[in-house]
Parts: sequence; C-alpha cells; structure tokens
Amino acid sequence: MPRYVLAIDQGTTSSRALLFGDDGHVVATAQKELTQHYPRDGWVEHDAEDIWRDTIAVCREAIGKAGAAARDVAAIGIANQRETTVLWERSTGQPVHRAIVWQDRRTAEQCRALQRDGAEATIAAKTGLLLDPYFSATKAAWLLDNVPDARARAERGELCFGTVDSFLLFRATRGKVHATDAANASRTLLYNIRTQEWDDVLLDLFHVPRAILPEVRDNAGPFGMADAEFLGAPVPIAGIAGDQQAAMVGQGCFAPGMIKSTYGTGCFALMHTGSEARASHNKLLTTIAYRLGGETSYALEGSIFIAGAAIQWLRDGLKVIAGAAASADIAASRAPTELFLVPAFTGLGAPHWMPEARGALFGITRDTSGGDLVRASLEAVCYQTRDLLGAFAADSGMTPAAMRVDGGMARNDWMLQFLADMLGLAVERPALNEATAFGAARLAAAGTGLCATPGDFGAAWKLDRRFTPTMDSRQRDRLYAGWKRAVEAVKNYTKAAT
Ligand code: ADP
Repeated sequence: MPRYVLAIDQGTTSSRALLFGDDGHVVATAQKELTQHYPRDGWVEHDAEDIWRDTIAVCREAIGKAGAAARDVAAIGIANQRETTVLWERSTGQPVHRAIVWQDRRTAEQCRALQRDGAEATIAAKTGLLLDPYFSATKAAWLLDNVPDARARAERGELCFGTVDSFLLFRATRGKVHATDAANASRTLLYNIRTQEWDDVLLDLFHVPRAILPEVRDNAGPFGMADAEFLGAPVPIAGIAGDQQAAMVGQGCFAPGMIKSTYGTGCFALMHTGSEARASHNKLLTTIAYRLGGETSYALEGSIFIAGAAIQWLRDGLKVIAGAAASADIAASRAPTELFLVPAFTGLGAPHWMPEARGALFGITRDTSGGDLVRASLEAVCYQTRDLLGAFAADSGMTPAAMRVDGGMARNDWMLQFLADMLGLAVERPALNEATAFGAARLAAAGTGLCATPGDFGAAWKLDRRFTPTMDSRQRDRLYAGWKRAVEAVKNYTKAAT
C-alpha cells in the first residue's frame, strides 16, 4: 500500500520536494536553486524547462532518500510561485519563451493604459485584484504580442497558457491535462472570482484568447496521473494551490477570521473571510483561499515587499550582522529607541500600493548604532503587519483570535514578541515550519481519498510557541503613531517628486 504523500514546493528561488509519511511527518526533502534571469531593468524571467527538470529531479531525490519508490507514493500535491506566466506549445509541451515571473514590471505601461481607460473598477469587481503588472494577464498578452506568430497560433488553439502549477501538470501528464485550480486562477486577472469562470469582458480587455486557458478545478481532487516515465510508476496528482494559499491550508486556517502570515523575503498575510468575497476598501486583494467539493472559501490578502530582505540588506549590504540568526540577540540587547525605518526599498505594498516610494530612516541621533538599525528593521516588519491587520479588520469586520506565523523570519523570537505587542494579538508559531509544502500534501491527501478533508491529514495543528502581548497599550499606541508619521512622510516625499 502506498504510504507517502509527495509535496512539490516550486518557489521563486528554488524547487523543493518534501515526502510526508501518512502521519504528516516529513520523511525526506530535496531542493535545487533556480536560476533567475534579469534581461533588462525590471524584467525577471525563469526558464520553464529548468523548473520542470529541477522539479522532477527533487521529487526523485526525495523519494530515493527515504528508501522508497514511486509506487509507495499515494499522491502528489503541488504548491507553486503564483502569477508567474508560462506559454507553451500544446503539441510538444515546449515553452515558447521564458516564463515571466510575478516580480516582473515590463507591463506597467499596459496597466497604466487600462487605468486611463477607466477599466480598473470593472477589473477589481470581477477579480478582487488591483490593476498591476504583478498578475498574469498582462504578462500573457505581452508574450502573445512579442513572441513571433504567438497570437495567431494561440487563436488556432496551438498554444497553452498557465501558471507554473498548470505547466507542471501538463508536462507530468504528457500533455493529457491542461488544468489549474480555482485559487491559482484567481491570481490571473482573467478569472471572475464570483461566477467562478474565465470572464469574457476580462479576456477582451487584456486581449487573451479563451483557447489558451486551462480548465479550472477544485484545489483537491484527481488532476491527472504523473506518467510512469518520470518517477518510475504512475502517481496521481491530487492537490494544487498557489504557495500562499497552500500555507493557509498547512496552517489549518479553515475558519473565517483565521490569519496566517508568512515571513520570508517578503511577507504575505491572508485572512480567511468565509464563503463570501469581501471587497477591500484598503487596497487589500480579495482572493480565493481554496475551493473544496465545489465550495469556495475566500480570503483577503496583504503583502509587505521587504521583510527578511531587510535582514539580508543588513548582512550583505551594510555588513552590520554576520548572519540573520544574530538579529534577535542584537535587537534584544538594544535599549528601545524611536528609530523608524521605512523599508520601502522597492515601493510600499498594502495598504498603500505606492510602487515608486523608496525607503527612509527617521530619528537618527549621534549614538544611533548598527544594532539599533537591526532592531528598527525587525520592528518595521511588525509595524507593517499592524498596518495589514488594521486593513483586515476594517474590510472584514472580523476580530481574529491570533495570527499564525511561518517562514524563515518566524524563527526570530524577539521579532515575534514585538509583533504580538504591536498587534495586541497572540502570535502563534506552529511546530511544523513547512506550512506551504504541508498544505500541498494535505490537499493531495484529501484529493486522493486518503482522508475526508485536507485538515484530517497529519496530526492536528500543533503549537510550538505562543507569543502574547505584554506591552503597555499607551506605549504601543505611541510607537505605532510614530511609525504612521514616518510612512506618511515617505508618501509625501514621494508625491512631491511626481
Ligand atoms: P523565502 O522563501 O522568501 O526565500 P525563507 O522563508 O526561506 O524565505 O526566509 C528567509 C528570509 O528570512 C531571509 O530573508 C532571511 O534574512 C530571513 N531570516 C532567516 N532567519 C532569520 C532570523 N532568525 N531573524 C530574522 N530574519 C531571518
């Protein structure tokens, strides 16, 4: 009897495979770094062939490390970098161009033109998203317009569009299945999250022909069989979700009001809002959390562009710390200061969406030290999370009981305590820090019938540590007011220049 569930976590910087035992424990892992291509300023590409080759290689390696074989694997789940856009030939599975990565800004002008045409309100109402190059639609249109002959071939049904999940599924099934899941579809700007269909008005606005689109399915269920050629035996692919949605499932956020926040290079926070898509008035995204058994759960999403990246900057750029792990002790050793770092290195994310903003540091004195800057960088991540929490509360009307955290930065105890203090909310770190891969495994386990629902796979969500607020509320309010002044100053400085 197959005993394992294989999770693929195809991320922006690496492709990973994690083999889970049927009790939900990690048995083996494998990882390969992914080459980034920067052909021009603001352009970011991946070679989709690299993604495919690495994914199969890490799957084989993880299975091998466990001393297992493909026939021991009950199902495969896929969690993928979201929005990254691939266009490939239906007959061969060959990409016609490198994949355009979510970070890529080449279609900023197309977005501005649609904005000038007044299309933004329609787009927001149908998709829950903002009109931004970040999402897939303008990337797909760019490929159709810039790859020779692509548009004509697309109209004839010779090309396929998909996010990375869809491409991997197509290749793994040797072209038998061209599908995606509802949550990945909800990131394309082409999918109507309310009617749950590719939307003709959107297809028309973005000039994307229907013939290239994948079929949209639930997040858990039989997607197709990975061909025996790849792993040595056929294995069903039974769960798919974008990485942040997979992390929600891995964190057990199945009820309205639950929040997970993943702290990696950037930070992505999602709040479950139940069966209704709630429009945001605070520049959050409304998105599909998951669709199971035909029932859709929605989420509000906010992102912070720079979280762990600020720590990388302190380490590699300023060289004030030797490693990320040292940041907790350094921050703890500093007396509280009112130094505010606004790390808008690549613009401000939610709830501001000001891509042209740049960073600033307020409150420098003669004795400001590198250590103070370390502390201010960690605090900045917490202040930004508080901004998101305020937006979640305003848009949803819900009061969360706690925030569940994961990702590399969630190892930092000092930061999590300051986060709890700043949010005035319990912060919970789970025993399993692999929320994204675990979520993919859970979806696959449910999708192949190993268990009734994703939440039934593996032990119940287990707490590693809960951080509860201890800061005096007057101090919290004073610090947060200082942060808000700093952000306002950055926004005003930016506006004055434009
Ligand atoms: P990603 O998936 O975006 O590559 P990870 O979840 O692996 O990110 O987290 C890596 C990030 O977390 C890095 O930016 C690193 O600087 C930061 N990081 C790792 N450990 C710590 C720590 N103890 N304190 C603060 N930041 C940390």
